[in-house]
Amino acid sequence: MEFRDLKTQYKVLKDDIDKAVVEVMTNCNFISGKQVEELEKELAEYVGVKHCVSCANGTDALSLALMAWYIKESDAVFVPDFTFFASGEVVSHIGATPVFVDVDKDTFNISAKSLENAVLKVKKDGRLNPKVVVGVDLFGLPADYNEIKKVADKYGLLILEDGAQGFGGEIEGKKACSFGDISTTSFFPAKPLGCYGDGGAVFTDDDNICELLKSYRVHGKGAMKYDNVRIGVNSRLDTIQAAILSVKLKAFREYELKDINRVADKYSEKLEGVVKTPYIPKGFYSSYAQYTITLDSKKVRDDLQKYLKDNDIPTMIYYPKPMHEQKAFDYLEYKGEDFKNTISLCDTVLSLPMHPYLKDDEILRVTDKIKEFFYGIK
Ligand SMILES: *Cc1c(COP(=O)(O)O)cnc(C)c1O
Repeated sequence: MEFRDLKTQYKVLKDDIDKAVVEVMTNCNFISGKQVEELEKELAEYVGVKHCVSCANGTDALSLALMAWYIKESDAVFVPDFTFFASGEVVSHIGATPVFVDVDKDTFNISAKSLENAVLKVKKDGRLNPKVVVGVDLFGLPADYNEIKKVADKYGLLILEDGAQGFGGEIEGKKACSFGDISTTSFFPAKPLGCYGDGGAVFTDDDNICELLKSYRVHGKGAMKYDNVRIGVNSRLDTIQAAILSVKLKAFREYELKDINRVADKYSEKLEGVVKTPYIPKGFYSSYAQYTITLDSKKVRDDLQKYLKDNDIPTMIYYPKPMHEQKAFDYLEYKGEDFKNTISLCDTVLSLPMHPYLKDDEILRVTDKIKEFFYGIK
């Protein structure tokens, strides 16, 4: 059993993907081929925003957003404590200060209440200007942008949606990657919509921000490539990846997103009352980048993981360490007492095999082994 089965997906889409890749190689338009702009149009239309600017990876997408907002040294950027490292790394990289915020224990996403407390603390301290909140759509579930927006509006924060895991998710029919003043995603192979290498995209309704993003991603270009008006980066999505993504987006829209939700429902039905299954609030829809259960203690989690491994069932721990405990952030001098939920989740979460091609008998094998772990062999 694969944790995320990219091989089966390729087998299903092989004819179309091979054709798309060969076309790029035949034309040799490897950088900035027409497929890139076509994909950007398709993505913007799917998400329901005015502009999509593709780039080299999901981390650069976040960095480009911070560049376009001129985020600087004296700025505080609020980041959930329970997320992938990149969500906070980009803040330090641009020279600003990440301020970590505890998450909700049920949705795993940033807690609006903890966010407000963190903003008040920064204001009282007076050294930094509260500027941006990064909402991460962890494991495919959009963060609670209705609540985040209330806090953001009250304190004048910009919202940056890190939708690296959230592509395809929804709140009341509105698509993920449309909730931020700027939103981003990643096309890393294992993400909900993945390419065959690195890739990412930035989404915005703002025409000026779109122009800035397009400039920053190609060495701060002005009217043309050899007219450079600002210090930028080199962060383009290459044409082969764009061609592959167009094929994959079609499958994603037509059946993959539905199928992965069917897998999630089956897992939840079989595991109800056995372990704590993912909580999807009313009106929310997840793209299930991960299916993550919560156990009662670290010991139970670790023992269950070992039991499943012994039965050839792969699982992962996303994430074993809170952001504020990462060595790279030692310089921020966190003590840890404000992050009760994150600390507990790092010890108790376990992500199960999850992808749209998971078959019923595989799901049953996983859930049966979990029941066997708790109740013994019947
Ligand atoms: C994967 C991921 C990123 C980074 O994306 P890359 O394409 O790997 O650079 C950023 N944030 C979150 C939450 C992610 O899961």
